[in-house]
Amino acid sequence: MEFFPVFLDVKNRPCLVVGGGEVAARKIGMLLQSHAKVTVVSPELCEAVRELADKGLVTHHQTRFIPEFLDEAILVIAATDDSVVNAEVSVAARELRIPVNVVDSPDLCTFIMPSVIDRSPIVVAVSSAGAAPVLARTLRARLETLIPASYGRLGALAGAFRDKVKTHFPRPADRRLFWEKIIQGPVAEMVFAGQDDAAKAALEKALAAESGDAPPRGEVYLVGGGPGNPDLLTFRALRLMQQADVVVHDHLVAPAILELTRRDAQRIYVGKERNAHTMRQENINELLVKLAQEGKRVLRLKGGDPFIFGRGGEEIETLAAHGVAFQVVPGITAASGVSSYAGIPLTHRDYAQSCVFVTGHLKDGSVNVDLSGIAKANQTIVIYMGLLGLPQLCQELVKHGLSATTPAAIIQQGTTVKQKVVTGTLETLPALAVDAQLKPPTLIIVGEVVKLQEKLAWYKPELGEGSSFVAGIDATVE
Ligand code: SAH
Repeated sequence: MEFFPVFLDVKNRPCLVVGGGEVAARKIGMLLQSHAKVTVVSPELCEAVRELADKGLVTHHQTRFIPEFLDEAILVIAATDDSVVNAEVSVAARELRIPVNVVDSPDLCTFIMPSVIDRSPIVVAVSSAGAAPVLARTLRARLETLIPASYGRLGALAGAFRDKVKTHFPRPADRRLFWEKIIQGPVAEMVFAGQDDAAKAALEKALAAESGDAPPRGEVYLVGGGPGNPDLLTFRALRLMQQADVVVHDHLVAPAILELTRRDAQRIYVGKERNAHTMRQENINELLVKLAQEGKRVLRLKGGDPFIFGRGGEEIETLAAHGVAFQVVPGITAASGVSSYAGIPLTHRDYAQSCVFVTGHLKDGSVNVDLSGIAKANQTIVIYMGLLGLPQLCQELVKHGLSATTPAAIIQQGTTVKQKVVTGTLETLPALAVDAQLKPPTLIIVGEVVKLQEKLAWYKPELGEGSSFVAGIDATVE
């Protein structure tokens, strides 16, 4: 490491800023946020600094820098546009062994200022040791989106309990275990959900329970993993995936998504392939209850959205009946994700005013859904689980009034690199699908909007995330 990273306590202590322009204003702002006593030396001030001086938030000396200004300072920042002055400040500060930062001149600095993600009291600082500030800033921006704003409130809650927990657990190892459970468990989740009072009460309770022999409280996270492409996971899904102790997953969950669960988590496959149910639904429900009652944090990972043809409702009904804590994380459902990646806007104004999601799951070889009410003009129909029943589904829709020439598409493994789109009409699609030798999962879309696919298909599976669409230009050529 080029620099020794520290956080400095400047509260009520004199810090000097030489310069009064925009750059100085930013540094002054940071110092004030850390409650420093700021003195500014500069013949001129920009408006922002002038305002601070007028309000008495900083002390201003309207003059050139002389070393005497350093007499009291515990830290100095030079932010003038005059390299001679900046160098003078640096020399004088070094002589007195006062930490000095000169903006944009790493050679004149004895300390540098990092890019900061402020979730006070949690603060993340990123530095490239001056080598690549833009890279550090980019990383900072990425971290900004990854670290929920509520981490600050979680930090404050932990701070408020710090002494209590310390008295309760004299041994550091016990303390650490306790905090790990709090930070990764339901208390933290309550803070993230904005339920600060409930979180505080739960933390009190957890602390009290630790002295007795109360079993740890398990919880189930019913998480939608989206249609297959890991980029389509939500932040919340990813966070819970990385903290669960056990992962209970289906056939539909793509390996690339499973990869993102905690490395050392136990994984339990419960199947759900057609005609090869590895575990009956009731047994899955019971398994979830059992694992949670053992005190585990259980990730029930589902394809798409758990509440759309995902039987998520049934699973949490059982959990609720047993008093097991749970939370549900929505995912991008196949209809939404797959249609986007296929270039079929489900409710394009010119063609459809409504859109229905139906299941084409067959029971006893017949179409199990009543299509009579949904076969109508200006409505897009999205059929889940319809590959096997495709010929009957198309026939039924025509029987109930749709024209045989209604555009229809079937999409295999949408959003992934294995995506295949086959388009035709209600009349031609079944044969085209057989020719294409499609593999599940597949989604069927019926309606005039399918016509747009030809124009709007932007996603090229062979290019993966590099896909983009520019009309008339081959996106594969730079
Ligand atoms: N809960 C899921 C649906 C589960 S039912 C969701 O919200 O998406 C399983 C059906 O979803 C499959 O038979 C198929 O019709 C559809 N499906 C899921 N992922 C898909 C994908 N990547 N491509 C095409 N269809 C998909």
